Amino acid sequence: MQPIFDGHNDVLYRLWKHSKSGTDPVQEFIEGTTSGHIDKKRALKGGLVGGLCAIYVPSGDLAFKAPDANGHYTTPLAAPLERAPSLDVALEMASIALRLQQAGGWKLCRSTTEINECIEQDQFAAVLHMEGCEAIDADLTALDVFYAAGLRSLGPVWSRNNIFAHGVPFAYPMDPDTGPGLTGAGEELVKACNRLGILIDLAHITEKGFWDVARLSDQPLIASHSNVHALTPVARNVTDKQFDAIRESKGLVGLNYAVAMLRPDARENADTPLTDMVRHIDYMVNRMGIDCVALGSDFDGAKIPGEIADASGNQKLVEALREAGYGEDDLAKICRRNWLRVLGAAWHEQ
Ligand SMILES: [Zn+2]
Repeated sequence: MQPIFDGHNDVLYRLWKHSKSGTDPVQEFIEGTTSGHIDKKRALKGGLVGGLCAIYVPSGDLAFKAPDANGHYTTPLAAPLERAPSLDVALEMASIALRLQQAGGWKLCRSTTEINECIEQDQFAAVLHMEGCEAIDADLTALDVFYAAGLRSLGPVWSRNNIFAHGVPFAYPMDPDTGPGLTGAGEELVKACNRLGILIDLAHITEKGFWDVARLSDQPLIASHSNVHALTPVARNVTDKQFDAIRESKGLVGLNYAVAMLRPDARENADTPLTDMVRHIDYMVNRMGIDCVALGSDFDGAKIPGEIADASGNQKLVEALREAGYGEDDLAKICRRNWLRVLGAAWHEQ
């Protein structure tokens, strides 16, 4: 089995959502459930040893557009969110993350040494991530507090605009150049992340925002859960020019298991073969090299191939890659080593 450290999941969002109807999030994660994709038992079974766990504030008004006869769709960006209620939600999710640590469900890791210790001890290595910074003020005071609580990775923006940046819509086919990039506050956020040692994730940002961060940041460039635009031209996927910049910066792209970002027709159809996943990995390896390709499942945040089903089926992808010719050293890089390398760089470990 290849242990997998995964670049993106929404398990905190799922646990938070269920907690609103009375379930205990700590119990749900530790004792297991049949809903969603990740809990401690299913993670252990599938060799999922840890990952970036997102604090994500949902958009109540997001209405996904149905595709037309050609399969084309454009979902308008959700409206911007108010800060105070976003902060409440973010604090509730951070609290679930901290309670899970207190109960021994997982460990919130702040260094690659801690992640490696977790892997050796069969403890789930969680890295606290924020997907869209609506909970953070322009003065970045909340950033200091979340950092103290363990935040070590963030995407300035989700697929909606905020005070820091502009997001890309869910649309097919569409290029990622859909609007402006970083704002002045966003530039300050990027500088603060570089100073504090917080990884900057470019997964939902516009193409202009991508180049703004590339110009400002001294970190490797990361898209934690995105795929290949040349194969599946949704606005969220990465273009060849962006792949080249990511390779130059020694960054990475984590393969998103979302079927709508894997399939050539971009349909929300779980009957999606593992060969579609392998095709995206092959493309990225050919374009950027084996050191810049990793995994970013989007477990608990997307519809994924039925064959994988949940975290317990993770090794089926590894097996498909093995059959496609990847050796164990290459698989170790894709499954965890590349993530550990870029986290170490963003966290000023080397
Ligand atoms: Zn996402």
